[in-house]
Amino acid sequence: MDFLSANSLPWIKDAQQQLRAAFSTGRLPHSLLLLSVPGLGAEQLANWITALALCESRAKRPCDACASCRLLRSDSHPDSHVVRLQDDAQQIKVDQIRELIESLTTKSYRGGFKVGVVEGAECLNSNAANAFLKTLEEPTDDTVLILIARPNHRLPATIASRCLRLKLAPPSTEEALAWLEANSSGSKNWRAALTLAGGAPLLALKLEAQGIAAIDADMRQSIAALADSAVDVTLLAEQWGRSNPGIRVIWLENWITQRVCASMGTVPSHQTAEPVCLPGALLKPKIRALFELLDAAREVRRLASTGMNQQLALEALLVGGRVALGK
Ligand SMILES: [Zn+2]
Repeated sequence: MDFLSANSLPWIKDAQQQLRAAFSTGRLPHSLLLLSVPGLGAEQLANWITALALCESRAKRPCDACASCRLLRSDSHPDSHVVRLQDDAQQIKVDQIRELIESLTTKSYRGGFKVGVVEGAECLNSNAANAFLKTLEEPTDDTVLILIARPNHRLPATIASRCLRLKLAPPSTEEALAWLEANSSGSKNWRAALTLAGGAPLLALKLEAQGIAAIDADMRQSIAALADSAVDVTLLAEQWGRSNPGIRVIWLENWITQRVCASMGTVPSHQTAEPVCLPGALLKPKIRALFELLDAAREVRRLASTGMNQQLALEALLVGGRVALGK
């Protein structure tokens, strides 16, 4: 487990300070809900909190030198437990949660805290979420539970309301660009990667490594074919579903936003998360169709974490796209 990389992410510094202060006064919450879009380092922060709680040094924690820190580094600390989606699973299984709860209710091996982390908590099914309730309702003094979920999570209110919520916010564009440049070599189009990543620097790094230019070229080709009705929507949806569907939908949102702004003579904002609200009657039919397509793309993205039928959702989006973009 890498628990030091959190220190190199300046935008989570405030959260770290807040948690360190809580820890040093014995007020670290028993249950923490980290709300974050992908690519802001919530997993790194959870690792850092784990090390903060388990480190055995009295000085600067986590020290990266004590027996606990060394065990964490080699992923073999008996009091640290992490649960995440297995392979291609759509949901976190109730058995994974039962195992975690069992580990957290047994005595600490090293006499300190026991820490459980659930990555992608929006993928807990309702049985798994319910299994947590008792642990959340009757926390033991030496247990810390950290759930990581997207801000639009579907966690039951009974779970979310029992956790202290900590929402991670993306850095400003300038801060993010400066960080990306300082953490990479060679000159790259970080602004484009950052836009596609919705402002999340770690996701921008990943996208750049995956070949953002190739996705961009492929999407432009897809859109041109869609506008000419020269492509089978079912096949195209399958193709999008197989490779980076989430990124493709964000790409589409950005592309539509740029088209809408160009038609209206305004400058697109970097953050596309805010819906543009304009009275429908003021808009030309073509622009209105683009707005409808934008809404549909946002809805597909919003539903992406809910276990919906991706193929059907993408097909419906593409059928809408063919109408909106058709000549
Ligand atoms: Zn240590």
